[in-house]
Amino acid sequence: MSWISDFIALFYPHTCRMCGAPLLKGETTICTKCVASLPYTRYWEYDDNPVAQKFWGQIEATAGCSLLHFRKGAKVRKLIHQLKYKGRTEVGFKLGYLLGLHLKTNPVYADIDYVVPIPLHPKKLRKRGYNQSDYIANGVAEALGAKSAPALVRRNTHTSTQTQKNRMERFQNVRSIFEVVQPQLIEGKHILVVDDVITTGATIESCAAELLNAAPCRVSIASIGTV
Ligand SMILES: [Zn+2]
Repeated sequence: MSWISDFIALFYPHTCRMCGAPLLKGETTICTKCVASLPYTRYWEYDDNPVAQKFWGQIEATAGCSLLHFRKGAKVRKLIHQLKYKGRTEVGFKLGYLLGLHLKTNPVYADIDYVVPIPLHPKKLRKRGYNQSDYIANGVAEALGAKSAPALVRRNTHTSTQTQKNRMERFQNVRSIFEVVQPQLIEGKHILVVDDVITTGATIESCAAELLNAAPCRVSIASIGTV
């Protein structure tokens, strides 16, 4: 299917980004059949899930969750690739919206005020032209009835190269790359930090830690995929 569906999608944008079939009325970006076929984690159904556990003993996160299993060669990988490298930002919104709908079924996410996308490194942002996580955050915020707040956290440019450092130094380096722009805005709020894929969780954890240090607030973590 792959290259044929890609080719068709080039001329008929109202086709499913996964299977290439024409979208029906009421469908956006990914058809209902493909949405149903995604490898859901169902982590939103229990609070001690493997994503939440990644942050235990590291930061005081309120909750943690991922929508899909991100496996090599899987459909999810193709979707994330379209979002990150092919300019298909609508895929980010769609997957973010799906994530938000599922989070909504768990009361722990009911009072989310702000959805914060992980800021991209400025060099990458210049090269790519957009931050894929901004679109995920917009979708999540829309589904949750929360505000997307991409300007709340800034990524610093001065972080040095990681290759010459040992693990601990690297970790400390990651810890200082984010900065909360207006700490007074987050006081007493519940913030959801979102990213495309959580692997080790170090980046999203450092962003969450900066928010928790900046003002008294609650922080939860979510992503589209997890390995
Ligand atoms: Zn489809």
